[in-house]
Amino acid sequence: MKLYNTLTRQKEEFVPLNGNKVTMYSCGPTVYNYFHIGNARPFIVFDTLRRFLRYRGYDVTFVQNFTDIDDKLIRKANEEGTTVSEIAERYIKEYFVDAEGLGIEKADFHPRATETIPEIIDFIKTLIDKGFAYEAGGDVYFSAKKFNEYGKLSHYNIDELEAGARIGVDERKQDAMDFVLWKAHKPGEPAWDSPWGPGRPGWHIECSVMANKYLGETIDIHSGGVDLIFPHHENEIAQSEAANGKPFARYWLHNAFLNIDNQKMSKSLGNFFTVRDASKHYDYEVIRFFMLSAHYRSPINYSAEQLEQASNALDRLYECKRNMEFLLKNAKDEGSSGPDASKLLAYKEKFIEAMEDDLNTADAIAAIFEMVREINTDISGGNTSKAYLEEALNLFNELTGVIGIVRKGEDTLEAEVERLIEERQKARKEKNWKLADEIRDKLKEMGIELQDTPNGVKWKKL
Ligand code: AMP
Ligand code: ZN
Repeated sequence: MKLYNTLTRQKEEFVPLNGNKVTMYSCGPTVYNYFHIGNARPFIVFDTLRRFLRYRGYDVTFVQNFTDIDDKLIRKANEEGTTVSEIAERYIKEYFVDAEGLGIEKADFHPRATETIPEIIDFIKTLIDKGFAYEAGGDVYFSAKKFNEYGKLSHYNIDELEAGARIGVDERKQDAMDFVLWKAHKPGEPAWDSPWGPGRPGWHIECSVMANKYLGETIDIHSGGVDLIFPHHENEIAQSEAANGKPFARYWLHNAFLNIDNQKMSKSLGNFFTVRDASKHYDYEVIRFFMLSAHYRSPINYSAEQLEQASNALDRLYECKRNMEFLLKNAKDEGSSGPDASKLLAYKEKFIEAMEDDLNTADAIAAIFEMVREINTDISGGNTSKAYLEEALNLFNELTGVIGIVRKGEDTLEAEVERLIEERQKARKEKNWKLADEIRDKLKEMGIELQDTPNGVKWKKL
């Protein structure tokens, strides 16, 4: 597989450090609110990478953190007259609700900054001992200039960076390029004891420490949105490599922005929709599909039109699946002169080839649609064998499963529709035409059209 590595600015063959074991770390949300559609992009994209690597036989260990202490959480807690930990607890719970809806699997580890304090303190001590960090008035700073390769990820040189850097009013750092590892306690803020007095960790240090704790000194893949390249990931590299004297992450992957009106969607710009709100208008699955229908390094624009398109496309996939399932229920065992499903394997190859080309989900999804078109033609011929249907359905489920779409099986809509159809059949048997019509109307309201066929009742979404 080839992956575009921000560090080298090229696509590289992906070879894990340890055989088929892959270690992956992705920066997670700061939990002071529901997450927005822009935040959902890295979560969905790197969940898909993880699914694909697993599909290709790798044993993946995936870590995604929760930043549960920072200025925004403190502000929110003060506004609401509650504690930072109550805010964090609430939005971590809500993260999992939305993530589950979006088909984002739980990571193997979801460490929280506040539960990693002893390790963070030890790590900072090491950096001080090695001469990369210094204490100043209860704060601890990292000396960026002591780390010779500072700037290697963002491809800035230190002079360029210095031109834009300034020392804030309440900072005690020696050089504008230095960044904070530990913040001295301020009134009204939560604090933990440390060798430098009470305080709390800065943001960058938690990811270095957590990656080290759960995955080791050198990890295979580190990911996040492009806005994290500088300073966050640059600082993570400096901290980890200064402390361990080893390369930190071997492949750095960054997703492009999700925009709205051609501007980055962000909480600070106030132009954001939470996934929770969007899920009231579109299925979670439509949001996932929309996100993966573009390559992760291309910017995408969020618009109602795009979401409608995604919704229609997803419906076509569901319809194909339902038709296969329906025909399979009535299919005969014996072989027929119908088409042979092995020809569909060409689409699987195409799918894998696209995914192996720097996770090109756009082309991979296109391969699924080409396959669906062919399946639709085959099954409309009316002579597909049980073997064909089984194979085609398995392949369909296999490929859509890697993308994490068409996940609804017997649950939710399907189950409800099937239940109503059964009720209607029962009413018809009992010659209760009024009830039967009412049920048909209700289904119509749900956007479901019934077709009475000699083989039973078929349905499709309008
Ligand atoms: P945050 O909670 O702001 O630290 O962001 C969590 C993740 O979302 C990070 O990987 C960010 O890079 C990513 N992110 C934030 N806004 C956007 C956006 N508009 N488009 C794509 N990714 C984003
Ligand atoms: Zn991070």
